[in-house]
Amino acid sequence: MMNLHPRIASLYENVLRRNPGELEFHQAVREVFESLGPVIAKHPEYADSSILERLCEPERQIIFRVPWIDDQNRVQIHRGFRVQFNSALGPYKGGIRFHPSVLLGTVKFLGFEQIFKNALTGLPIGGAKGGSDFDPKGKSQNEVMRFCQSFMTELYRHLGEYTDVPAGDIGVGGREIGYLFGQYKRLTNRYESGVLTGKGIAWGGSLVRTEATGYGTVFFTEQMLKTRGQTFEGKQVLVSGSGNVATYAIQKVHALGGSVIGCSDSSGVVYDPEGIDLELLRQVKEVERGRISEYARRKGGKAEYHSGAKIWKIAESTRIDVALPCATQNELNGDDARLLIRSGVQAVAEGANMPSTPEAIRLFSEAKVLFAPGKAANAGGVSTSALEMQQNASRDSWSFEYTEQRLAEIMHGIHERCAHTAEEYGRPGDYVLGANISGFTRVADAMLAFGVI
Ligand code: GLU
Repeated sequence: MMNLHPRIASLYENVLRRNPGELEFHQAVREVFESLGPVIAKHPEYADSSILERLCEPERQIIFRVPWIDDQNRVQIHRGFRVQFNSALGPYKGGIRFHPSVLLGTVKFLGFEQIFKNALTGLPIGGAKGGSDFDPKGKSQNEVMRFCQSFMTELYRHLGEYTDVPAGDIGVGGREIGYLFGQYKRLTNRYESGVLTGKGIAWGGSLVRTEATGYGTVFFTEQMLKTRGQTFEGKQVLVSGSGNVATYAIQKVHALGGSVIGCSDSSGVVYDPEGIDLELLRQVKEVERGRISEYARRKGGKAEYHSGAKIWKIAESTRIDVALPCATQNELNGDDARLLIRSGVQAVAEGANMPSTPEAIRLFSEAKVLFAPGKAANAGGVSTSALEMQQNASRDSWSFEYTEQRLAEIMHGIHERCAHTAEEYGRPGDYVLGANISGFTRVADAMLAFGVI
């Protein structure tokens, strides 16, 4: 672990004391704090105005009971969260995660990351996150609908197109956003399109929003490779996960001439030396909502399935040029990083939020592997959400080509900002430092302008 600037170290102690047991939140704060020493040294006004203390304290945290009735007529109780972290740059913005592992600390780590990610996009959006420990997996369509309606029945009073605009995350896709939007519309008697993003195309959604996180991660990686005179052409790639982010990362890697030879889900890993067949993957995962073991079964002997394995193990026996962790937090640890480095990995970009452990990031940095943190690499999703809000505000809808072009420009802008800031602070190529400092200064300057609020 890196040492913290003395003024920041005592603040960090305070964060640990005031948020006990929230390990992921501690990890997310620590990573940002490790980058900020040189900024505090250069701009004492940030510390004098307690900007960092204020950034670590969410503006508002909402925790609520979500009761619903399952198909067997039993009452089920879950817990709902919305952490409205920071609104210095715009309405609170960030996804909602439905997964059994979700605790307040999970939502806080995600919301904290979201502040800097959203700032980095250059768009007018604040940072927030929400979620519940509800697991949509294995639930009937009607159960998911009843849960979403109950969740929104409490949350709607805290939302609004100028207040807080949720979207999807793990376990929340187009289907859930539909039920949430339907209930919001019913409760408020307003067709307020801009209150949620990730909507269906027929009712206010934006083209490219579905593809945006995966595409954006690949656009960012493309820019990083370019700094070393490289492209995706002929590269062997691993993409962990097989959900929305992974699916469209795979599609874009293939379009740029690379080959994704492995993907995964929470039960196991598929190794397909021919390159993942995206149509088959989407049939199994999106249409049938099945497991990827089914993918390997249908490919006959051509793809291997390893139950319970970790995807990064593929690097033990095959050359891996690029790794895109697109599943979940802390899925790539020090041992995995060592395997990838030994295999010759040149670039790692985080499609998920905080998928690499601090040790893995340190190892990549020491080995001079190009490394893009999630707040930069996966910002394409929330950026396209902001484009969806723009279309809603002007009652317009843009073509796929135009929207993808906008996304590509935003990702190039983020890459530029990170690279330029890293250089300015004497650490060229350090995208972690570049992303943290660049995101931080944009939020901090707005907070300074507003006075003590
Ligand atoms: N959940 C996504 C993220 O982590 C998207 C958020 C949004 O579109 O508001 O950035």
